[in-house]
Amino acid sequence: MAEPPTVISGETRLAGVIGWPARHSLSPTILNAAFRAVGADWVYLAFEVPDGGAAGAVAAMRTLGLGGLSVTMPHKAAVHDAVDERTPVAADLGAVNCVFRRGDRLVGDNTDGVGFVDALRADAGVEVAGKRTVVVGAGGAGRAVARALGIEGAVDVAVVNRTLAAAERAAGLAGPVGRVGTGADVAEAELVVNATPLGMGPASGSDPAPLPIDPALLGPGQVVVDLIYHPAETPLLAAARARGAAGVNGLGMLVHQAAHAFHRWTGETAPIDAMVAATRRELARRAHVDGSP
Ligand code: NAP
Repeated sequence: MAEPPTVISGETRLAGVIGWPARHSLSPTILNAAFRAVGADWVYLAFEVPDGGAAGAVAAMRTLGLGGLSVTMPHKAAVHDAVDERTPVAADLGAVNCVFRRGDRLVGDNTDGVGFVDALRADAGVEVAGKRTVVVGAGGAGRAVARALGIEGAVDVAVVNRTLAAAERAAGLAGPVGRVGTGADVAEAELVVNATPLGMGPASGSDPAPLPIDPALLGPGQVVVDLIYHPAETPLLAAARARGAAGVNGLGMLVHQAAHAFHRWTGETAPIDAMVAATRRELARRAHVDGSP
């Protein structure tokens, strides 16, 4: 059924994402679909804010009375420093991906980890508690996932990363169950997460895409999550499925982290199905336009 057009009035609330670049962000698609689905009088825009502009954007949020702000690269750390308060997860990660209002205070939150856990539950029926896990990659996403796995009761969180210091930091965020691992830990894990960009975007040339994990270590009974959502089927997910493991891509995490922002801003339960459907449509439209998978 066609959605009614958004009618913008003096009452309409504005939310948006700041990033550089921001024009290709999927957040306007996801959040506007959510607002429409519940009939919320909100609109959501993308703002291209160059590096160094985060504090100004937070000040603008305050001055203009914006209802909510999403934050993406390269501003997550600078917004962490610019807000009035931080949730415990944002403070631990030193990174904010969502700003909401508490009275006249601006609060920085980070919904990536909880979005990951929710997506795993919704898309694969998997609970983290009691699982032996491996996280490959220790950047912003790897840190958020490692921390969430520790909080949710994983019994082992082995972080494997090209740069040792980053692996140590991410493993520390997982608490006592966190440790620096090696590729060999993948064979013993029940849940394996790729948090590197290896496998992102269209394949180029005739060379096989580099894989973040040796697929020979994967097999039945394992769940492999690739945080990448474009393409929907990464070379890692294809290899995992070929060896009998279950595969989950990053689309669910993208939607569920936005769902938590939506809830923070509006107080309403996010319409997940409408958000997923809009995101899939937009990814399909982009694939049609640029010819990539
Ligand atoms: P990031 O902060 O730049 O971290 C990238 C990580 O990947 C680092 O640990 C880096 O290792 C590693 N890496 C990069 N290139 C590599 C290579 N050629 N070989 C081995 N390791 C490599 O990026 P991020 O924000 O964490 O994002 C990581 C991935 O997650 C991206 O694909 C992103 O699209 C995806 N993501 C998805 C969602 C979602 O909602 N689905 C959310 C956030 C991110 P070093 O430490 O050695 O540099």
